[in-house]
Amino acid sequence: MSNCERNKKILLELVKRPGNRRCADCRAPDPDWACYKLGVFVCLNCSGIHRSLSSRVKSIKLDFWEDELVEFMESEGNTNAQASYEKAVPPYYYQPQQNDHLVLREQWIRAKYERMEFTGETKYPPLSYTTGEILTGMLWKKGKENTQFLKRKFVLSEREFTLTYFNKENESKGPKAVIPIKDLNATFQPEKIGHPHGLQITYQDDNHTRNLYVYHESFYSDCHTVACGLWRITWYNAIRAARYAYLKTAYPTGSDEELIPKITRKYLKEGYMEKTGPLESFKKRWFILDSQNRKLLYFKGQLDAEELGVIFIGTESNGYSVKECVPKHARGNKWKCGVMVETPERQFVFTCEQEREQREWLDALRQVLSRPMAPQDYTSKYG
Ligand SMILES: [Zn+2]
Repeated sequence: MSNCERNKKILLELVKRPGNRRCADCRAPDPDWACYKLGVFVCLNCSGIHRSLSSRVKSIKLDFWEDELVEFMESEGNTNAQASYEKAVPPYYYQPQQNDHLVLREQWIRAKYERMEFTGETKYPPLSYTTGEILTGMLWKKGKENTQFLKRKFVLSEREFTLTYFNKENESKGPKAVIPIKDLNATFQPEKIGHPHGLQITYQDDNHTRNLYVYHESFYSDCHTVACGLWRITWYNAIRAARYAYLKTAYPTGSDEELIPKITRKYLKEGYMEKTGPLESFKKRWFILDSQNRKLLYFKGQLDAEELGVIFIGTESNGYSVKECVPKHARGNKWKCGVMVETPERQFVFTCEQEREQREWLDALRQVLSRPMAPQDYTSKYG
């Protein structure tokens, strides 16, 4: 057997070892690339990020491997790398998964290997929860009634557990809004907002869901109040840090395992469907399925500040159902792939443009439907 074949065989054995079976960075199964400078096995997507950061990468199957590189991969591997590069990841820090946006994965990879933020050395101390105001800076915020983004000052306070923003011209008049961290959610939304650092901040305002669409210009927040100049954080992770601190206060006995999934939540599905009301014809609306709150919200457009309506999704035993349908006697609908949602109160018919979208909505809605209701879900419906 030639060296080349032998080395390939060793690599294919190595990548079957428990620690190497998943991508070192996004945990995608069966990585078939390797970064041989760091000694980690990664998926194709993460290998692209490593390459762009001028880390050396090779394909396990397609590239030629020298003996010493194979030996290095054998001596390092994902388990060893994680033990040093991920030794001290703060619990609030978002660790991206395989389907997450490139920007989130790149931030993670850079923080981990380039700046070595999580090796437990004092260069990047974890955020302390006693500083009060954790982050102050300028964010571009979309106007409530228009599509224009304007620069606004935002202050994230951990003493008050609030996110406050000001109208730049009228800062002396006091804040424009003070948002409690308690029911705030932040989702990473580069596509919708059209900026790589786009964030959607959602909160409850007088029983309404209110959305803010913001972005910050640079990779990291432009200014912050933590004295240590080396300390850097993205707004997304700063909001997560505040949420984590709030959850620790609200649920002092909660374990990290219980609290971390509650820090921020991704929406199960978003997209356009057509919707009909009892009297109106079909209209195109933007829908968001918030699985954790069992709510299907709909908006006029995808960057709207306030929802037009919300449908609570219970369980089958509570009289809810979701099924495929062909809309009948419908006026004005251009789309043909129907989704019917029945609640004890009424029936809703939505239409999707394509069958794939219809299938995704049916799957997502059924996922919520099949999850047993928790006591707080009753509060969320009637409260
Ligand atoms: Zn990966």
